[in-house]
Amino acid sequence: MQKVEQLYEGKAKKVYATDDPALVIVSYKDDATAFNGLKKGTIAGKGVVNNRMTNMMMRLLEEKGVPTHFVEELSDRETLVKKVKIVPLEVIIRNVSAGSFSKRYGVKEGIVFDAPTIEFSYKNDELGDPLLNTYHALALKLATKEEIALIEKYAFTVNEVLKEYFLALGVKLIDFKLEFGKTADGTIVLADEISPDTCRFWDAKTDEKLDKDRFRRDMGGVEDAYREIFKRVTSRPAN
Ligand code: ADP
Ligand code: UDP
Repeated sequence: MQKVEQLYEGKAKKVYATDDPALVIVSYKDDATAFNGLKKGTIAGKGVVNNRMTNMMMRLLEEKGVPTHFVEELSDRETLVKKVKIVPLEVIIRNVSAGSFSKRYGVKEGIVFDAPTIEFSYKNDELGDPLLNTYHALALKLATKEEIALIEKYAFTVNEVLKEYFLALGVKLIDFKLEFGKTADGTIVLADEISPDTCRFWDAKTDEKLDKDRFRRDMGGVEDAYREIFKRVTSRPAN
């Protein structure tokens, strides 16, 4: 499958059309941003880690009954996926307090929740991805009630599958962001990526951060953290 033309360049990936209108190629960059693009940098090797890790997670989730956009890994940085219309909702699941949750509610990081939480943001860079609830999403016609219910169900399934998978690798899954899309026939599938850019991973023994927080917070060891999580993931193939 060949790239025909670039459709979009985002902060972390490029999207290309192919000669099949139902398929696009996603190409992962080493560019990193945080705080809605205010902080910019490069994380060497990130594109390869995020591409390959995302694909492993997508294959695992397909097996567990979550439909995804994944079609075929083409190279270290490029993957063929089903073209979807992205539902403009960022779906965030949390198992442990961190990041904006801790800031918003004034609690320390690391509080383990009795049950996972779900929240939605309106995927809109100009507005800074504002938090919204399902009534707001319906009012804005971002998705139907049925679609939102399905997205919630899939998101919690993703959490159960990934939590167990990462724990076996000695990693706590703290929180993560998902995006869903609609194929031409209206099917809702999991899209975008599942990577250290979009998940918080803490070492199960030491609570060391193995994700993009090292970049966001200028902690150093960013490349090493991406390499370490990738090493663990590839040491125990998902399938
Ligand atoms: P951003 O747009 O936030 O800067 P990226 O750099 O990751 O993010 O760009 C990738 C873009 O591709 C995102 O807008 C994402 O929603 C979109 N996308 C992800 N998967 C698909 C898909 N299967 N079909 C079409 N677009 C997709
Ligand atoms: N996240 C993401 N993209 C975003 C916002 C959040 O991938 O635009 C991920 C982030 O990596 C973390 C989870 O979603 O794993 C929750 O992020 P949070 O709301 O705490 O925001 P942050 O602290 O990143 O501003």
